[in-house]
Amino acid sequence: MEGTLTARDKVGVQDFVLLDAYTSESAFVDNLRKRFSENLIYTYIGTLLVSVNPYQELGIYTVSQMELYQGVNFFELPPHVYAIADNAYRMMCSELNNHFIFISGESGAGKTEASKKILQYFAVTCPMTESLQIARDRLLLSNPVLEAFGNAKTLRNDNSSRFGKYMDIQFDFQGVPVGGHIISYLIEKSRVVYQNHGERNFHIFYQLLAGGDAERLSSLGLEQDPQLYKYLSQGHCAKESSINDKNDWKTVSNAFSVIDFTRADLENLFGIIASVLHLGNICFTEDKQGGATVPDTHEIKWIAKLLGVCPSVLLEALTHRKIEAKTEEVICPLTVELSVYSRDAMAKAVYGRTFTWLVSKINSSLVNKDITQKTVIGLLDIYGFEVFDKNGFEQFCINYCNEKLQQLLIERTLKAEQAEYEVEGIEVNIGITLRVMFSKECIRPGPATDLSFLEKLEEKVGRHAHFQTRKLAGAKGRKRIGWLEFRLLHYAGEVTYCTKGEWPVTPILTVLHLQVLCRSKNSILRECFLVAELENRRRQPTVGTQFKNSLSSLLEILISKEPSYIRCIKPNESKEPSKFDDFLIRHQIKYLGLMEHLRVRRAGFAYRRKYEHFLQRHLSSPTLIFFNIFIYLFASRERERQRENETKIFIRFPRTLFATEDAFEFSKHQLVAR
Ligand code: ATP
Ligand code: MG
Repeated sequence: MEGTLTARDKVGVQDFVLLDAYTSESAFVDNLRKRFSENLIYTYIGTLLVSVNPYQELGIYTVSQMELYQGVNFFELPPHVYAIADNAYRMMCSELNNHFIFISGESGAGKTEASKKILQYFAVTCPMTESLQIARDRLLLSNPVLEAFGNAKTLRNDNSSRFGKYMDIQFDFQGVPVGGHIISYLIEKSRVVYQNHGERNFHIFYQLLAGGDAERLSSLGLEQDPQLYKYLSQGHCAKESSINDKNDWKTVSNAFSVIDFTRADLENLFGIIASVLHLGNICFTEDKQGGATVPDTHEIKWIAKLLGVCPSVLLEALTHRKIEAKTEEVICPLTVELSVYSRDAMAKAVYGRTFTWLVSKINSSLVNKDITQKTVIGLLDIYGFEVFDKNGFEQFCINYCNEKLQQLLIERTLKAEQAEYEVEGIEVNIGITLRVMFSKECIRPGPATDLSFLEKLEEKVGRHAHFQTRKLAGAKGRKRIGWLEFRLLHYAGEVTYCTKGEWPVTPILTVLHLQVLCRSKNSILRECFLVAELENRRRQPTVGTQFKNSLSSLLEILISKEPSYIRCIKPNESKEPSKFDDFLIRHQIKYLGLMEHLRVRRAGFAYRRKYEHFLQRHLSSPTLIFFNIFIYLFASRERERQRENETKIFIRFPRTLFATEDAFEFSKHQLVAR
């Protein structure tokens, strides 16, 4: 048993709150290492779960494991993602309120796997009626579809989610899962047209080529070999041994049939996917006047056929732009370079909006209108903090999102604890407010060049201690910050962003693009590109503004729910089992804010329940009558000591108190802390 003293030396403690030593980072890392070497990948900090990616199958996700954790109090069993899921579920059922589980960590740390395990846990352990089995299957099968279109092989993760995902699992008043709703955030569109060395485009392209039958491929004008497509071969790893595209295609095809996609939907969808590949293969050459032409119109014809658009209008949209003056409109030819940009912009827009369509299509199949009384458990699987050699607008948005979510965590847990226990000396870096960066002046159409955008930033946020540019940083910064770069000191570390050509100060889709796409005969595209957009083009929010708005609504969704947290840690860069890279792990501990969390938790009781809920639940259990009387008397005395009625009191569950030695020590520790 993990709890015995000798075992403890070997396997560490299952709750960091129990660490004897002063809570140094080294003690923290040591404990994590001990447990990892024994394949114990989960450890608590109070009710927060720390998970280290094992990069191997551990046999800890079986149905019997799920049954073990079902209905058992949180600290009775070794830490597990199932305990988090079960705890949220039971609280939701008993208190009839909404919950969310926030899973964070860097790329490859195991967020998506954790969220899938939780979903499976609910699918297996929740009560189920026959009529609702289809809802359950759809919930489960939405994953492979979304992963096919939204995940890709990157250097850091062979199945990296390139979008943020928030999924509500809806339950009826009996705790039966009845439906769901998904919100996606900021799909990484740049990947559609460009991949770094060693990385791939979204899985679906390769799956279609590897798994689609000959008839389907020929009807789409495609060949099986991914190397033939520019958008699939830039990373030089189109064929990846660790990924079985053919098998994955079968899973996705099966999922499509369960999630209510019609034949027509699929034809339109794959027509779009094929068109993106054809777009990537269009080559431009320069004509005598310096404008771009397309000598081989083979691809144009295929796209026109698949999307139901006029080939000459499509060609014009790719090689020209419309200049609108007050009284007239002029169509000007584009150079070869600008045509390439125009082609890529169209591919990115088409793929990005198709992904949004896909999410809403899945949502309509997950919706359950018959059941009115619902509570939800939300799962938030969102990209972690990112720092690359070159960081652009997408990294900025991702890091901004992390900054806001970190703030939320601090406000919801650490700050609340601080207020309750008046703990001093805890440095909580709330981070910088990046609001100004998304303010109208900076992001709205206006500044025409990369440099003027940067100058605008300098003017607006230049005095902020966490913001630097080459101009502002003086001699020190001159070494490393380039002319078109700025640097932010995030809560998780410094990141230098490059503003060159990447910041969507104005919408990138041109009028000519919109004119082609909104008149397409492909019904998905017609839903994605509305004629109304043509008229309101100038009023369209930019990508930055859209992202900022969706992030604000995400925060609103989260604020109204009870949180649970899972912090995922990546043990090494080489995706190997049993390899524990201290340096890498220390870095993650820092920016996941785990030490702060531990310090606050050690200062207070680790298990928190409202007094009323506690009594409500425990007085109803006949086997606990004796303890209940004890607890009741103790709690009443405690309550008298509290000035305000709504103040929480903190008590360990009585069964846990004597369950294991760890738990016993834990309570001793807490008594000392008091
Ligand atoms: P990203 O931000 O790139 O999407 P992520 O945090 O979602 O990364 P995952 O895709 O969940 O990372 O995990 C990466 C890989 O690590 C998985 O494909 C799987 O091989 C392995 N892995 C993660 N968690 C576990 C686990 N609990 N057990 C076994 N293997 C795991
Ligand atoms: Mg993921």
